[in-house]
Amino acid sequence: MTPTIFERIIQREIPATIEYEDDDVIAIRDIAPSAPVHVLIIPKRVITSVDTLDDADAELVGKVFIVARTLARKFGIDASGYRVVTNTNADAGQTVPHIHFHLLGGQPLGRMNSGAERSHAPARSGVLRDAGLIVACAIGLAITFNALNTKSIPWIKKEYERITLDSSEITTYIAPVAPTASPAAEQPTQQQQSTASTATASQPAKEQSTFVPTPGVVREITHAQFKAFLASGPYYLIDARGAEKYAEGHIANAVNFYGGEAEARIPDMLQSVPKDRVILIYCDGGECELSHHVADVLKRFAYGPIFIYTGGWAEWTTKK
Ligand code: AMP
Repeated sequence: MTPTIFERIIQREIPATIEYEDDDVIAIRDIAPSAPVHVLIIPKRVITSVDTLDDADAELVGKVFIVARTLARKFGIDASGYRVVTNTNADAGQTVPHIHFHLLGGQPLGRMNSGAERSHAPARSGVLRDAGLIVACAIGLAITFNALNTKSIPWIKKEYERITLDSSEITTYIAPVAPTASPAAEQPTQQQQSTASTATASQPAKEQSTFVPTPGVVREITHAQFKAFLASGPYYLIDARGAEKYAEGHIANAVNFYGGEAEARIPDMLQSVPKDRVILIYCDGGECELSHHVADVLKRFAYGPIFIYTGGWAEWTTKK
């Protein structure tokens, strides 16, 4: 039988954002999240659905719920509330025939009454049912194709505010560099970050930074402005492309935050990256949807200022 997408993720043939893994279970971020937290908890053994569980699987299913509880705590949704659901077969809308449990949370999820309401509605005509089935199949195919495609598109195209950084503004954000300091050649570690801010604070008055942290500010920047930021001082550089592309090549010191991973990385960032750190983000270039998505999340957590290098990897590899 052809392996399902989840088997291929378990075998590491397809990338996914893994939130938890042990010998029996893997938990990954859903590629098309229905809530701010949407994780799929997947038993590794090939079981098609709840309907094909054996009695001996009781422990495994119990473990799934323990993992759900652990992840809910990790994402800080344990107190606010969350939902664990599994779809079984066609009427429930199961699209991947490998048992999995959706952990949803991070916002009010509403009552689970839509299915019940539908079941009391008058029966649809055969034509409507067939049409619905065709549309569902088409959507299923599109979802699968998109999931398998390395250039997969986001499910909902969001319009981002695109403001370019005016050249005259750049000095507001660039901290002066001590003459002997090497130009931010390494990804700033926590220790380096505190050293850098100490160095800045000890500059003579005329060299003191005019840098004003402005959380929530997202600006698009050119190649020249990006290079100026790289040369100027502490920054946190994010490559918002997929893991495969990042592995093939990336700008030195960049960390990889692919699209929807941004939320998952926030707890790490909160521990190690000061809120006023200059954040630089790039993806492939052009529309910069992935970069804007990451920027949007970081903005919600009061990070900033944030700069998106619109030329992205495509321009960087030609200009450097
Ligand atoms: P279900 O409809 O209950 O079978 O759930 C299948 C889930 O798998 C959907 O929510 C999809 O968005 C999700 N999904 C499909 N492909 C992937 C993938 N490559 N990575 C992560 N989630 C996926």
